Amino acid sequence: MADTVELPSRLAILPFRNKVLLPGAIIRIRCTSHSSVTLVEQELWQKEEKGLIGILPVRDDAEGSSIGTMINPGGGSDSGERSLKFLVGTTDAQKSDAKDQQEVHWHSRGVAARALHLSRGVEKPSGRVTYVVVLEGLSRFNVQELGKRGPYSVARITSLEMTKGELEQVEHDPDFVALSRQFKTTAMELVSVLEQKQKTGGRTKVLLETVPIHKLADIFVASFEMSFEEQLSMLDSVDLKVRLSKATELVDRHLQSIRVAEKITQKVEGQLSKSQKEYLLRQQMRAIKEELGDNDDDEDDVAALERKMQAAGMPSNIWKHAQRELRRLKKMQPQQPGYNSSRVYLELLADLPWEKASEEHELDLKAAKERLDSDHYGLAKVKQRIIEYLAVRKLKPDARGPVLCFVGPPGVGKTSLASSIAAALGRKFVRLSLGGVKDEADIRGHRRTYIGSMPGRLIDGLKRVGVCNPVMLLDEIDKTGSDVRGDPASALLEVLDPEQNKSFNDHYLNVPYDLSKVVFVATANRVQPIPPPLLDRMELIELPGYTQEEKLKIAMRHLIPRVLDQHGLTSEFLKIPEAMVKNIIQRYTREAGVRSLERNLAAVARAAAVMVAEHEQTLPVSKDVQKLASPLLNGRMAEGGEVEMEVIPMGENDHEIGSTFQSPSTLVVDETMLEKILGPPRFDDSEAADRVASAGVSVGLVWTTFGGEVQFVEATSMVGKGELHLTGQLGDVIKESAQLALTWVRARASDFKLALAGDMNVLDGRDIHIHFPAGAVPKDGPSAGVTLVTALVSLFSQKRVRADTAMTGEMTLRGLVLPVGGIKDKILAAHRYGIKRVILPQRNSKDLVEVPAAVLSSLEVILAKRMEDVLENAFEGGCPWRNHSKL
Ligand code: ADP
Repeated sequence: MADTVELPSRLAILPFRNKVLLPGAIIRIRCTSHSSVTLVEQELWQKEEKGLIGILPVRDDAEGSSIGTMINPGGGSDSGERSLKFLVGTTDAQKSDAKDQQEVHWHSRGVAARALHLSRGVEKPSGRVTYVVVLEGLSRFNVQELGKRGPYSVARITSLEMTKGELEQVEHDPDFVALSRQFKTTAMELVSVLEQKQKTGGRTKVLLETVPIHKLADIFVASFEMSFEEQLSMLDSVDLKVRLSKATELVDRHLQSIRVAEKITQKVEGQLSKSQKEYLLRQQMRAIKEELGDNDDDEDDVAALERKMQAAGMPSNIWKHAQRELRRLKKMQPQQPGYNSSRVYLELLADLPWEKASEEHELDLKAAKERLDSDHYGLAKVKQRIIEYLAVRKLKPDARGPVLCFVGPPGVGKTSLASSIAAALGRKFVRLSLGGVKDEADIRGHRRTYIGSMPGRLIDGLKRVGVCNPVMLLDEIDKTGSDVRGDPASALLEVLDPEQNKSFNDHYLNVPYDLSKVVFVATANRVQPIPPPLLDRMELIELPGYTQEEKLKIAMRHLIPRVLDQHGLTSEFLKIPEAMVKNIIQRYTREAGVRSLERNLAAVARAAAVMVAEHEQTLPVSKDVQKLASPLLNGRMAEGGEVEMEVIPMGENDHEIGSTFQSPSTLVVDETMLEKILGPPRFDDSEAADRVASAGVSVGLVWTTFGGEVQFVEATSMVGKGELHLTGQLGDVIKESAQLALTWVRARASDFKLALAGDMNVLDGRDIHIHFPAGAVPKDGPSAGVTLVTALVSLFSQKRVRADTAMTGEMTLRGLVLPVGGIKDKILAAHRYGIKRVILPQRNSKDLVEVPAAVLSSLEVILAKRMEDVLENAFEGGCPWRNHSKL
């Protein structure tokens, strides 16, 4: 730090344009003008001892035009105007000094400065010499007179520094003491604020304690950025007290400005809304992810989506629509409502198979036939019809043939036939379950304006299957209903109509989709509920259900191998002999299809899997010496190979049989095991006999969604007013049949004098109640006519009907028996129940050809024309009336 120096009376003057050097400040300048270079050369460079020069602020004056010499050279009080107008460098013709030739205002006070460092340079290529000078401001002076020494100015000066004595005097001035304390406090504050911000306050603090206060004020102020005017006024503050208060003011202002700036930053930071913060965080996250090579953030997602959309091969009009939506998406923030729904929608557009198709190879009818045969046992007519259908497709691929619809009870192979068609065509298969669909939107989708809207099942199915030409199974098409939410059938009609399905309109998708390449196949349990317009578009193929023999074959050839495979077993581990399969069919299931049979077989396989797995764990010895731990099997093993001979070879595994016989670890299912796994048998043939044990019960045959069924009808009479009560969830038609039956019987009763205890009127003082178990299953249809009459006759005659005889047929008021539907199903059902005689309407005799010969041969079929024929055969020993009339 500069000590107080003695100033010479003359100083070479370096003008500082619009800038002030304060005492204590250090500045680095570059001198390039002729005058300043000469000054540095002569006053500093060439002098051995580093000399002093005067730095005098100069104010540019654009307004000033008059040329003159010094004006107001004296410089009076602190408050007066202290500028000197002077034309500098009149003799200097150099262009670089052109500015100096302008009229300039010299300030009348300056600061003497010492050069701390000098360096000389030569500019290339001009060869001009320049100097870089580091100057330290020392003390203030006043200009008495300004003159010239060559190209630069010199001034006669007087020092403005106080003498030691004066200083000591001031230091005792209480005002000064107060001012300096105030200054120090403010300066200290500033230092600590800066320290917090930049952590570089250490040295400044030292300054504060060591440097005398009057210098400190200059040093502090010199370190801020201030306006020229403020710098000037600081320079002019010669009086110490004035200087201190000025400095305090400036330091304080600087401090305040720092604080305000800080506050503003804080405020702005606070005002950053949550979303902006999230945005910032997301940006950071993205940067991190990029760094990690993890590029799954939103924007990449959108880019990926766009790529997927481009690859989807949409028709051009749909592509335009999709792009519009994508532009909308891009403008949205991910957290904005609607972003997600828009994205899900675009994902659907991108996922839908617009042009992606299973490659269709030349249809090989022979291979298709083989495939159908290998997948399904029997069903010759059905398979034949499917082959015809495929043949037509082969000849005319775009033929608008009707849609195939498989009709039949559950578990008869409708779905698996449809999937075989897909396999034969080499196409993908997709199943849409329409059971219980009552809302049109299920087929056609909800408009996107609804919250949680979705595409309909068709579009969804296509998205799942991923090709535009799959075989699509419309499962249980008869189970769609209509209510207030629209009519799904009409939407389906559009789907199945080749004229309309080229541009199927899903409400959610909102752009047309071409369904014409899809091959539709439908299934239904029954024909009646299908709306006629839909029915019109379909070709029905009936699958009535299987006989026990067919089921046995299906089980042995198809179900058992599949079930074993599904449970990780082979025929080496588990054998289900034919006798046991028969047992399951007869005593554990009573169905038209084979679904519950398959389930029961699966239950057996599960149990076996447990045994095999346990066995493997406990006995990891060679297979030949394995003995199953199961006590169930010990007996079976002891019986030897005899029983095992019953095992039916399973297809391709034939060659393995030899070794299988030898393997002692093979688990062979027997009756005990069956009961253990499946429980006691659920059905037996004696059911009919038990139920018709009393008079008033007859055995009917009905047709339900599950195929044919045996239906018992119970009638009883009690004291009453001649009313007829009917129970068992009956429809109108069946109720009328009951009325009719009663009328018919009453009419005959008087004719034939059939009566209870010799009454003329059988119903006098009595009510009749007819019940159809099972009470919870809805029933309707006219085919129970003959059964109702038989039950009533049995009741009135108190004669039991034959337990081995079941019947079906509609009856007219005059007693004629009319034909009914579902004969094959009904006969199969009778067969399942172990019924030996079936009474059918005469006119149904033509339907008997459909019944498998094996079933027919095990039954006695009686054809009836009139009600009397039925009664004649329903009772042991003929019609009870005849007996009566004979009496
Ligand atoms: P549906 O659709 O008629 O209710 P599925 O097609 O689901 O019945 O058939 C049920 C099970 O029975 C399937 O595993 C199927 O393979 C089998 N199945 C039905 N009929 C046959 C058959 N004739 N030959 C072989 N397996 C059959």
